[in-house]
Amino acid sequence: MIYSAPVDDTIKALRTVAQRNMDGAGLDEDTLNAILGEAGRFADERIAPLDWPADRFGVKLANRQVTTAPGFAEVYKDWQSAGWNGLSAAEAAGGQGLPLAIGMAATEFWNGACMAFALAPLLTAGAIEVLSHHGSEAIKAEWLGPLVEGRFTGTMNLTEPQSGSDLSGLRCKAERAGDGTYRLRGQKIYITYGEHDLSENIVHLVLARLPDAPAGTGGISLFLAPKILPDGSRNDLFCQSVEHKLGIHASPTCVMIFGENEGAKAWLIGEENRGLAAMFLMMNNARLAVGIQGVALAEKAVQRARAFAATRRQGKAPGASGSAMIEGHPDVRRMLLSMQARTLAARLLCLATANALDEAAHGDAGAADIANLLTPLAKAYATDVAVANASTGIQIHGGMGFVEETGAAQLYRDARILPIYEGTNGIQAIDLVTRKLGLSGGETVAVELGRCKAAANALAANADPMLSARAAYLFAALDALEKTKDFLTRQNDPRSAASLAGATPFLALFATVSSAAWLATLALSPLASQNDKRACCHYLETDLPAAAALEATILHGHEAICALG
Ligand SMILES: Cc1cc2nc3c(=O)[nH]c(=O)nc-3n(C[C@H](O)[C@H](O)[C@H](O)COP(=O)(O)OP(=O)(O)OC[C@H]3O[C@@H](n4cnc5c(N)ncnc54)[C@H](O)[C@@H]3O)c2cc1C
Repeated sequence: MIYSAPVDDTIKALRTVAQRNMDGAGLDEDTLNAILGEAGRFADERIAPLDWPADRFGVKLANRQVTTAPGFAEVYKDWQSAGWNGLSAAEAAGGQGLPLAIGMAATEFWNGACMAFALAPLLTAGAIEVLSHHGSEAIKAEWLGPLVEGRFTGTMNLTEPQSGSDLSGLRCKAERAGDGTYRLRGQKIYITYGEHDLSENIVHLVLARLPDAPAGTGGISLFLAPKILPDGSRNDLFCQSVEHKLGIHASPTCVMIFGENEGAKAWLIGEENRGLAAMFLMMNNARLAVGIQGVALAEKAVQRARAFAATRRQGKAPGASGSAMIEGHPDVRRMLLSMQARTLAARLLCLATANALDEAAHGDAGAADIANLLTPLAKAYATDVAVANASTGIQIHGGMGFVEETGAAQLYRDARILPIYEGTNGIQAIDLVTRKLGLSGGETVAVELGRCKAAANALAANADPMLSARAAYLFAALDALEKTKDFLTRQNDPRSAASLAGATPFLALFATVSSAAWLATLALSPLASQNDKRACCHYLETDLPAAAALEATILHGHEAICALG
C-alpha cells in the first residue's frame, strides 16, 4: 500500500504557475524543499499507514459519540501540534501566513496519504476563511485562534434531505433568543466530521432560516453553533447517525440534529439573510481543496499502478524473447503515461487557481476574476481525472485490481465522491457557463485564452521538434474553445437549454485547453525533465483531439438532448 508524497513534482508545478508568488513570499527552492519535504515526510510516515486499516474499521457511533479509526486521534494531535493546520492561515490569527498555493500543495500530500483523515482539516480551513472575512471581532476572538491551531475543527452544514444542489428549499430554523444569540432547530445530512474524537471542540457553520426571512436563497442566514459552548457545557446538537458509504469509510458522514430540546445556541456570521454569500466564500475554498483531493488520488493511483506494473510478469514485450513485466507492453505504457500526464495537468490547473487566489489576496482584482473562472474548472476537471485514474489503475492491476487487497479498489471507492460533493461537477459546469463566462464583460476569459495562445505560440517556436510538432493540437483545441465560447456567449439567456446542455462538455474542453497550456509552459521551461516532456506530448496528442468531438456536442448536442422525453 505505497504512497510517497510527490515533493519534487509539486515544487516544479509551483514554480511553473506561481514563481512570482513564491519569490514575493521569499520562498526559494531550499525553503520550498524544507517545508514541503517535511510535509511529505509526515504524510508518508504517519498518515499513509492509517489508510488501509481505517478503510476496514470505518467509524463507530455509540451514545452519540463517534470514535474514529485506531491511530487517527494520535496522528491528528501530532499533526496539529506540529503547526500544519495553520500553514496558510494569516499570521494575525496565529497561522504561518504562507501562500495558499503552499497550503494546497501540502493538502495534496495529506489527502494522498489518507483522504478520510485529511477531510477534517479540509473543512476547518473553509471555516477559518469564512470567519476571517465575515465574523465579528468578538467571534474571531473566541473561535479563530483554536481553529487555526487545529484544537477545534470546523464543519459545513448545508445539506438537508430535500435540499442538496438547490439550497433555496432549506428548512432548518433559527430564532432570535433576545440576547444577541440565536437558537437553531432542524436536521442536516451528510455532514463531514459532524462528530468525532480528534479535537477538543467542533465548530459547526450552519445555514438556517429566520422566522421572518424571505423565501428562497435570499432568506438564508449563516450561524456558528459549537458542540461545546464557551462555558464548557454541551450545546443542544448531536449526531443521530453516520452513513454507510461506498468509500472514505473512515470519514464520519453525519446526520446532525440541532435543537432536540431548548434549541442549539448559535451566533450569527455576517448579516441576517446574507448567509449564502458568506458560505460561498467557504465553498470556493473547499471546491479548490476538493480539486486538490482529486490530484492527490490521481497521483496515488499512478504510483500504485506503476509499482504493480513493474512487478507483474505476463506475456512478451515487443522485440523481446523472454517473458516481460507488464510495464513493457505498449498498451500498459499508454495507460500509465495518460495517468501521469492527466495528474500533472490537474495539479498545474489547481495550483494555478490557488496562485490566482494568492494574487487576489494582495489586491489584484483581475486575479480574483481569474480565480473565480478557474475554480469550477479545477474542481470538476481534477476530480474527474481522479476517478478516471482510479479506474485505469484497476485495469492495470487486472483481476488484482478488483479484489480489495491491492488497495486499487479502495482508491476507486474513495475517489468516487469527489465529483459529487462540494457542488456536483454538473453544477460546476453550470456555474462556468452562466456566471463565469461573463466575468468582467468577458475580459477574464479573454485573458485566460490569451495565456493559452501565448503558450501555444511558444511551443510552436521551440527548437525541439518533438514539442513544436505538437503545437498544432493546442491551436486546434483553442479554436474549438473560441467557437464554443462564442456560441454560448451569443445565447440571449445563459440559462437556455442550449447553454445548460453543453455546460459539462464545455467545462471539459476549457479545462483540457487550460491544463495543456500549463503543461506546455512546464515542458518548455528549464525545470522540465524528459519525462515531463513526454507527458506533455502525450497529453497534447491524446487528450486535445477530443476538442473536435466536444465542439460538436456543445454546438449541436442540445437538439437531441432537449428532444428527449
Ligand atoms: C460523503 C459525503 C460528504 C458530504 N459532506 C457534506 C458536508 O460536509 N456538508 C454538506 O452540507 N453537505 C455534504 N455533502 C452533501 C453533498 O454536497 C451533496 O450530496 C451534493 O451537493 C449533491 O446534492 P444531492 O446529493 O442532494 O444531489 P442532487 O442535488 O439531488 O443532485 C442529483 C443529480 O442531479 C443533478 N442536478 C441537480 N440540480 C441540477 C440542476 N439545477 N441542473 C443540472 N443538474 C442538476 C446533480 O448534478 C446530480 O447529478 C456530502 C455528501 C456526501 C455523500
